[in-house]
Amino acid sequence: MPELPEVEIVCRALEPAMVGRRTERLVFNRPNLRFSLPQGLPAQLKGQCFQSVMRRGKYIVVMAENGYGFVLHLGMSGAIRIEASPEERQAQKHDHVELFLEDGPRVVLNDPRRFGFLEALEEKSWKNYPAFAAMGPEPLGNDFNGPALAQAISGRRAAIKAALLDQKIVAGIGNIYACEALYMAAIDPRRGAGDLSADECEKLVRAIKQVLLKAIEAGGSSLRDYKHTDGKLGYFQHQFAVYDREGETCRTCDCDRIKTGGVQRIVQGGRSTFYCPEKQT
Ligand SMILES: [Zn+2]
Repeated sequence: MPELPEVEIVCRALEPAMVGRRTERLVFNRPNLRFSLPQGLPAQLKGQCFQSVMRRGKYIVVMAENGYGFVLHLGMSGAIRIEASPEERQAQKHDHVELFLEDGPRVVLNDPRRFGFLEALEEKSWKNYPAFAAMGPEPLGNDFNGPALAQAISGRRAAIKAALLDQKIVAGIGNIYACEALYMAAIDPRRGAGDLSADECEKLVRAIKQVLLKAIEAGGSSLRDYKHTDGKLGYFQHQFAVYDREGETCRTCDCDRIKTGGVQRIVQGGRSTFYCPEKQT
């Protein structure tokens, strides 16, 4: 599933393609994805100029000049394609939503598994959208810092790995970046969240920011379905220290693989966690 870096990269490509351009037409090729598609939206957006494309957690929020817009979530397998010229336009299987921009590109949402969704939002009330109303701070923002994390996880018995996946504590982090950040901060993923010291919270926040920024720089992680809007792949998966590397040597660690058995995989809350049993305590 795309996490913050992958969604950020999609947003950065959508912004110059959409902002300042008008909708010629918005077409839904089926009635629903994970949820019903908003049938009134094509009429609300027709002829309207887009004003903003932003990311909140793993969601993309797009607004037009008349205050109408939508929220988009890529789900498990959703991908956005930006087709710059009419010659490039080629309908593909699973192209469920097509946005034709005046004198501009066509933006397509392709989603074979249909866990993604698109819902109508209005500018005046988008922050009340249920997922946003309860969402924690953006990890790359200034209000996500050591004391803020310490406060958010204080008294929590859940494992720190599970706490990082809780979007109410911090937005946008999923399984990959939680594992990588805990490794970088040398914190055992099984520790109770509320047991982390103030110093460890500082260290973890720094690790989260660093891992996310490095991933954005590398174009995100392309594991199964994630692609850039031009069809290219990210390459952060080649830099994983521990994620999906069970039994292998941790990439930046001097632990002895013969002794430790290499990167360990455990299951927490139904999700695989990868960690180094020596470095992470
Ligand atoms: Zn190691």
